Amino acid sequence: MQFKYFIGIASVCTAVLLSACNGDNSSSSSNQVQEKPTLQPIVIQGALPVESERMAAKLDNATVETIGGWKFWKGTYKGYPVVVSKTRMGMSNSAAATALAIQHYQPIAIINQGTAGGHDPDLHVFDIVLGKYTTNIGAFKTPHKPIGGGSNALEWNEAFDVLPDDESDPEPIAIRKFEGDKELLTAAYKAKVNYTKGQVVEGVIGSADTWNNELDRIKLFHTVYGTSVEEMEAASVAQIAQQFKVPFLGIRVLSNNITNNGAYDPATGEACQDYALDVAEQYMKAKAAK
Ligand code: SAH
Repeated sequence: MQFKYFIGIASVCTAVLLSACNGDNSSSSSNQVQEKPTLQPIVIQGALPVESERMAAKLDNATVETIGGWKFWKGTYKGYPVVVSKTRMGMSNSAAATALAIQHYQPIAIINQGTAGGHDPDLHVFDIVLGKYTTNIGAFKTPHKPIGGGSNALEWNEAFDVLPDDESDPEPIAIRKFEGDKELLTAAYKAKVNYTKGQVVEGVIGSADTWNNELDRIKLFHTVYGTSVEEMEAASVAQIAQQFKVPFLGIRVLSNNITNNGAYDPATGEACQDYALDVAEQYMKAKAAK
């Protein structure tokens, strides 16, 4: 067990060293040894095969690792070390995949990307939202109602902070917004010029183990919490990344938007993967230059 772990670490280190030696293909073509710092890999997550396998196929020298039910592809992209992680759907899966990735690969940063449903009528299918903030829209304390009193989610106006600073507070009523990492956002802006399929905007990504199709509820999220899109993973990943102090950014493409009749388009998942790889390249390039 101990030995296996050592081999694992050794192979990660070798991959990192090799990638540092390979260098950045886009930099000058001198044959001198590149004096780049050895970078830890960047992790890019996607929940579903359609949100991860395209990125995995674009890695060079990729090896596959499976830990529990979670799959990771480790390789290089444009010479930089990258781990693509298929988290599977939902908050628990994505939290577990994030904790495993952090412990196993000690990543320099984490990008959670994939498809999402629009909450903002001004956003259209293929537009991309950069998570200036990512927030949990599934944790609430409901009002009291008697038996027979029914249930109305539009009255759930007390968001529940599942990661309160004050751990002694048993009922922390507050909306928790996880801020996107500034250097990742800078990289995302550099990559923006190459994305031609829609707009790239900053916004708020809302996450829950819920697929909301009630337009009044979507409107409430949009107006009260400022959500641009909803999906099922990013806030969970942000929460775990914060606990480990790993830089994080959520990047979500609208695959559907029922607020403006935006029909589901499966090609959005591929577009977002290409964009996320571009963001990762820009981020690693900036880190290597430091
Ligand atoms: N292939 C479809 C449905 C995917 S199933 C699509 O992309 O729209 C649910 C997954 O898609 C989740 O991992 C979630 O993060 C994301 N997703 C896409 N649209 C969503 C929406 N309107 N509400 C919740 N999750 C959504």
